Amino acid sequence: MRASRPANILLLGAGHAHLEVARRGCEFAAAGHSLTLIDPGAFWYSGMATGMLGGAWGAEADRLDPAPLIRRAGGRFVAGAAAAIDRAAKTVTLESGETLPYDFLSLNIGSVTAAPFALDAPGVWPVKPIENLYRLRAALEAGEGAADILVIGGGAAGCECAANLLALARRTGRDLRVTLASSAPRLLEDWPPDAARAMAAFLTRHGATLRLNAPVADLAPGAARLQSGETLPFTHALIATGLKVPPLIESFILRSPGLPGRHEGLPQDPRAGLTVTETLQSPEDPAIFAAGDCAAIAGHSRPNLGVFGVRAAPTLARNLLAAANGQPLRRYRPQPLWFSALDLGNGSALARYGPLWAKGRAMQWLKRWLDERFMRRYR
Ligand SMILES: Cc1cc2nc3c(=O)[nH]c(=O)nc-3n(C[C@H](O)[C@H](O)[C@H](O)COP(=O)(O)OP(=O)(O)OC[C@H]3O[C@@H](n4cnc5c(N)ncnc54)[C@H](O)[C@@H]3O)c2cc1C
Repeated sequence: MRASRPANILLLGAGHAHLEVARRGCEFAAAGHSLTLIDPGAFWYSGMATGMLGGAWGAEADRLDPAPLIRRAGGRFVAGAAAAIDRAAKTVTLESGETLPYDFLSLNIGSVTAAPFALDAPGVWPVKPIENLYRLRAALEAGEGAADILVIGGGAAGCECAANLLALARRTGRDLRVTLASSAPRLLEDWPPDAARAMAAFLTRHGATLRLNAPVADLAPGAARLQSGETLPFTHALIATGLKVPPLIESFILRSPGLPGRHEGLPQDPRAGLTVTETLQSPEDPAIFAAGDCAAIAGHSRPNLGVFGVRAAPTLARNLLAAANGQPLRRYRPQPLWFSALDLGNGSALARYGPLWAKGRAMQWLKRWLDERFMRRYR
């Protein structure tokens, strides 16, 4: 259908949801709209990132170039990172200084590592951006002799990374001494307790040292200081203490007093992400849409998982097109239960679906099948 007025739609960030919007770019072109995807350059898939860290596959299996995806669908790709969004002027300014106008702006720029201490000491690797896992593996493969690897954080990312660092040690024959430190009394606090115990048993059986109830106060070169005063030495420290919205989104919300959706009593915490309704549109600014980790869907609190961006993607694509065409929007309701699987680096995975969990090779087979199907769709 041809719209009465062609719209200029900017997609900021090649996150999970925008890959699908980009893939469907020809629907926008057919309606006379212009679709532009802005991203620094590569999509790194977290679902396969720990397998890459463990050496099961290379970076090329985990990374895809979003430029051909959108170009093939009749859209435009701009390589760069957004530095500022101006709602009044309806523009996005890139770090390069280039300014791009929009009629509709969609945000899918993911999240960054959140930590209660500074991350600027040498040998410190925040788990996001995912590319860091590739760099850490390269550094470990290039090194020699024994190395102390400190994983800080006992959630899904920390446990999966620890398991795959142990796998990298087995693959390379390097003496990598893996310690996992967590402030929590147990691993995987939001998983069923038996699953968490299975993870703890797996990690210790494969040689990791677990330090629970051990909050890290700060990092110095080569050592983490615990709140108890004890120090844990490290050659490399991998930080998996949680995810938060990128500074761009945080400052955008703080500088846009109308945006959090206060008239509907919606959450206003900028750390939770840009508030959108179930239509994925800002309740305060109909020109702005958001999905994935950088968005907070009113009434639905969810963990930061790529799977929610994947599920939101068809609604986002449809609603961006509908908004540009002046048509009504549809609603997306995040699923209450989801499948999660943690790659254990030995051909098996620990998986859960709500309160149910299982461990074994079949779980890893299912995880790989889902992950590879996702990557194939956008290559
Ligand atoms: C080790 C690890 C393993 C994980 N495993 C899983 C898993 O198995 N399954 C799962 O569902 N979740 C997993 N997660 C969580 C998952 O990584 C995130 O929830 C997911 O990446 C969020 O996806 P997104 O679509 O919001 O954004 P992302 O996929 O992170 O994409 C954001 C994109 O925006 C770009 N961008 C960032 N800033 C800018 C800017 N200023 N301008 C332009 N572009 C920008 C980035 O370069 C990136 O391409 C894992 C996380 C970690 C750390």
